[in-house]
Amino acid sequence: MSFLLHQARFLVTVNHLRDLPPSPLPEVAFAGRSNAGKSSAINVLCNQRRLAFASKTPGRTQHINYFSVGPADQPRAHLIDLPGYGYAEVPASVQIHWEQLLGGYLQTRTQLCGLILLMDARRPCTELDWQMIDWFASTGKPIHMLLTKADKLTRQASINTLRTVQQKLAEYTMRLGLPNQLTVQLFSTLKRVGLDDAQHTIEAWLKPAHQT
Ligand code: GDP
Repeated sequence: MSFLLHQARFLVTVNHLRDLPPSPLPEVAFAGRSNAGKSSAINVLCNQRRLAFASKTPGRTQHINYFSVGPADQPRAHLIDLPGYGYAEVPASVQIHWEQLLGGYLQTRTQLCGLILLMDARRPCTELDWQMIDWFASTGKPIHMLLTKADKLTRQASINTLRTVQQKLAEYTMRLGLPNQLTVQLFSTLKRVGLDDAQHTIEAWLKPAHQT
């Protein structure tokens, strides 16, 4: 199968909600702690080496980066690389900017169809990860979590982690009376674990409603 994601290119960097592209195309966003493996995942899912490199440019790490996917002359959707979080020392002003930009984007962007949340399989579900879930789950849209760097765990440990996270998510949705919109899988760019599942999830979200 040929993946829509395999035709992707950098579009624009945004630093304020008012500058978000006015395009009506559907969007899927990627979020995660810094170093969770977000850039590597975007690159491998789009089958490119350095697509998500722009996000790493110093000074741009607190910005939202847009990629367009589909044919260059007729893009079908956008992938959004959200700023990584969880840096050890962040000035209060940066923290406030981050909360406004990310929280605002996740809660108000109507084009956004779903959130891919990347969490290192060795330390999933940190406080800030829950903050992202809280912001987005309330919209009723789906969140799919990738437990990254699964190759760093033994097979048994990775299965145990997957089950534990599934359990936590089930408890969370039940407690808040939400539909079953939170899913999770193991993922490794290094060993190419879970790529197909992640690609299928994203492409299913991006399909126009009449095709589903
Ligand atoms: P980001 O800050 O979330 O964009 O993370 P990066 O994609 O830059 O990855 C952070 C570090 O984790 C880099 O050193 C990557 O080489 C490494 N990394 C990313 N994915 C994997 C993986 O699947 N397995 C392993 N072992 N390392 C990975």
